[in-house]
Amino acid sequence: MRVAVLAVQGAFAEHEQMLDRLGADYVELRKKEDLDRDFDGLILPGGESTVQGKLLRELDMFDPLKGRIEEGLPVLGTCAGLILLARRLCNDGRIHFGTLPVAVKRNAYGRQLGSFYTREKVKGVGVVPMTFIRAPYIESAEEGVEVLSRVDGHIVAVRYQNQLALSFHPELDEDLRIHGCFLGMMKG
Ligand code: GLN
Repeated sequence: MRVAVLAVQGAFAEHEQMLDRLGADYVELRKKEDLDRDFDGLILPGGESTVQGKLLRELDMFDPLKGRIEEGLPVLGTCAGLILLARRLCNDGRIHFGTLPVAVKRNAYGRQLGSFYTREKVKGVGVVPMTFIRAPYIESAEEGVEVLSRVDGHIVAVRYQNQLALSFHPELDEDLRIHGCFLGMMKG
């Protein structure tokens, strides 16, 4: 079982460290040819969604990855990764994969003071540390989307079929349970 980590921009190395600690095999996706490698799950890291979306298109990785997600490839999107997956963006006209039926607000906590830490319960996992960095939150979720966590009333974690998406950065704290949960999704 191998995880593909999108490694064109952002906090991919931190996800890889979590996978190392869990003893999980992974491959970095940096160029189109990397998509030919075998992998059973995909991590879309935090970073800058606009830049990531642009690079994915320029590198011809966008359509094949969208197709794999639509076919059921398990995917974990964190922060910018959540934005890439969202079907609607409240404050941005540019939709990326659009495979996750939620409406997301980018930089929802403000640009400068938008970084904070808290601990909150994630359904099926328990109370986990949550680091938010210029984070989005989910304004609304369509039917079929399971809300896994809320912070101050705002949705910050959801699961929809093969897609697990978070506003925060589990890879920046020590807790391995979210990544463990994702590896569980990959096992089916
Ligand atoms: N603000 C970033 C964006 O809109 C997301 C921030 C993050 O991934 N930490 O893409």
